[in-house]
Amino acid sequence: MTDAAGSARRRFTGDRLVVASHNPGKVRELADLLRPFAVDCVSAGDLGLPEPEETGTTFIANAELKALAAATTADLPAIADDSGLEVAALDGDPGIYSARWAGPGKDFAFAMRRVETALQAAGAVTADRRRANFACALSLAWPDGHVESFFGRVDGALVWPPRGDRGFGYDPMFLPDGRDLTFGEMAADDKHAISHRAVAFRLLIDACFDG
Ligand code: IMP
Repeated sequence: MTDAAGSARRRFTGDRLVVASHNPGKVRELADLLRPFAVDCVSAGDLGLPEPEETGTTFIANAELKALAAATTADLPAIADDSGLEVAALDGDPGIYSARWAGPGKDFAFAMRRVETALQAAGAVTADRRRANFACALSLAWPDGHVESFFGRVDGALVWPPRGDRGFGYDPMFLPDGRDLTFGEMAADDKHAISHRAVAFRLLIDACFDG
């Protein structure tokens, strides 16, 4: 398999994979997406792996460092996601800092209010000034240090107040383009059909998985 630039991609041939995340929402979504591929998924949390510091300055750099840390420590291939919400009127914030905007208590009601307060301060009250996208980098790493990375995004607008109690993180304030329901209101399968994570995941599957 070669990518658009003509470089060879390494295929995944095993039957066990570490999902290198301590975020239950992401672990659940990645395990859902991997279900058709008969891969036994074990999470970094279940293995007691340490959470590496996210020192990268891009989604891809952070996904790669998390996947590599888990693969080398667990001695198994590992998949990691680095993702976040990018708000145009806030110059792309919170971006790679999306988890950190929720504070140490990982309080996303607080994080969403923080985004809304910043939007109001920027005068971003009309839909066209409230554009945002979710971005997701997915990396698949092997214990020998090889890593393959993929990127996806989904565009939409931010609503206030937040709507729905499904999904996780910023889902209740994100209304994907062309839909009437926020990610917080949609059924999981409907989110999986269009999400940033699903876009990156399909690229990864096409490049690295059989079947
Ligand atoms: P990190 O990739 O661990 O740095 O965390 C990414 C953060 O971005 C998550 O904690 C969520 O707050 C947010 N995020 C990423 N993907 C989603 C999503 O699908 N829905 C809602 N929030 C998300």
